Amino acid sequence: MRPLPQLTPANTWFWTSGSDGRLRIQGCDDCGTLVHPPVPICPHCRGRRSTPIEVSGRGTVVGYTVNAHQWLPGFEPPYVVAVVALAEQPDVRLTTNIVGCSPQDVRIGQEVAVRFEQHEDVWLPLFEPTGAIDSTDRVPAPRRPVPRPPASADRFEHRVVLSGIGRSALGRRLMVDPLSLTVDACLEAVADAGLALADIDGLSTYPGGDGTAGGMSEGGVSALEEALRLQPTWINGGGDLPGPGGAVVAAMLAVANGLCRHVLCFRTVWASTHAALRLGGGMGSRVGGMFEYRAPFGAMSAANWIGVNANQYLHRYGATREMLGAIALNGRANAARNPAAIYREPLTMDEYLSARPISSPFGLYDCDVPCDGSIAVIVSAAETAADRPRPAIRVEAVGTQILERVSWDQGTITHEPQVLGQAAHLWTRTDLRPADVDVALLYDGFTFNAISWLEALGFCGLGEAQDWLEGGRRIALDGELPVNPHGGQLSEGRTHGFGFVYEAVAQLRHEADARQVTDARTAVVTTGGGTPSGVLLLQRAGG
Ligand code: ZN
Repeated sequence: MRPLPQLTPANTWFWTSGSDGRLRIQGCDDCGTLVHPPVPICPHCRGRRSTPIEVSGRGTVVGYTVNAHQWLPGFEPPYVVAVVALAEQPDVRLTTNIVGCSPQDVRIGQEVAVRFEQHEDVWLPLFEPTGAIDSTDRVPAPRRPVPRPPASADRFEHRVVLSGIGRSALGRRLMVDPLSLTVDACLEAVADAGLALADIDGLSTYPGGDGTAGGMSEGGVSALEEALRLQPTWINGGGDLPGPGGAVVAAMLAVANGLCRHVLCFRTVWASTHAALRLGGGMGSRVGGMFEYRAPFGAMSAANWIGVNANQYLHRYGATREMLGAIALNGRANAARNPAAIYREPLTMDEYLSARPISSPFGLYDCDVPCDGSIAVIVSAAETAADRPRPAIRVEAVGTQILERVSWDQGTITHEPQVLGQAAHLWTRTDLRPADVDVALLYDGFTFNAISWLEALGFCGLGEAQDWLEGGRRIALDGELPVNPHGGQLSEGRTHGFGFVYEAVAQLRHEADARQVTDARTAVVTTGGGTPSGVLLLQRAGG
């Protein structure tokens, strides 16, 4: 069954527009700009008055994914989730289903026309091919966005260090209380930093208590404080941060400005056990928020949302699945040297290419591994670094600026959204350049995400990853730019961002054992993407 949108005063006109067979989009009364999804102010002229404007219902497929996975009972795969650019204004896009043709026949550039399907009090705009091909590129060529210049010459980053790391058991279906995993990781991190629990005066996490339902958090700061009773002078937790690593950036700001000295940052997932226990947290009968414009079309997973962009990338640059496979194979080869990784068996390109399809172009090995586990990182004031038993890791710079639409389908579609901007921002806060990076920890919820980060950070040009990778040799442990020496989320497990921070610290301390990148001194760490993300540039202190 399709999840249907929750009707509200803001959206009822859109979801019922099809009752007369006409598609309508919000139009600004002052400047005429069409905007989707509806917002209460025109992003072009800031006008406050708008009217639903009837449009032709014609458009062009600019991205699509053939979904092969059954996410919902009664919504049978395969089906096509596509992003259609409207003929009147191609930057207005609808996520939809392409119907009236075989899923295998859907192409980027196909012209389509709306066909409404009524479900209860909702008319869903689906699209079917007209038979024509639109040879115009309806997607703007990607460019590196221009960040705001630094607000001052001061770098708060230089007043903090990463002083401790800790990790719980990582695994599939551990069947343990997630808060217990959190405590395991936190106690280890505090000991690793040579601190006592009583020294911890701040707590920071992502996404906080709101993530409990989906197996994405242990309950946040409230749950951990109830367990540890630290009486912190500052706390932070939430999903509206620059990625999971944004919890670490927030801690840096608090320490750099003297509100606390040692902040315990933590991130716990128990998605695997949560799913095994079939705990709730799924879709109710009606959906809202970030799911409203995609779930009714069976676009239930980031595999669908990012698959659309990955196909646009492959189409635009003539790249192949082997490019994505190079990321998956690299992660698996590295994971063989990481005792904590969940999947350590070697993976061949044939196995990668023939794996069960999930949502094109992604197969099973393009998707990271849901797992249980907790990781903790301590942010300390730089002046305390000399008292720590381990080498302190200094923070050279952060990248946090949002320069793209915060949307999965309306903005950047050639890359993972929320990657180009934050990467560009990072380089405005440091004199270092991509060539100075010794090891890259690239968020790989999907293989394509790592490709997006690689290009966004400037290790190669936009659209050039396939050649640059040299079949993966360049990103291997002994290559020019080792990527994800721990195996990444694809092989180590989906610790949702913090695993990359942990590995960067281990590498820069030269404590990564068999997977150590020789003489690693500078690491870039990315977390998130799609939703607002963040980048850290870390360095081993003392040259
Ligand atoms: Zn306007």
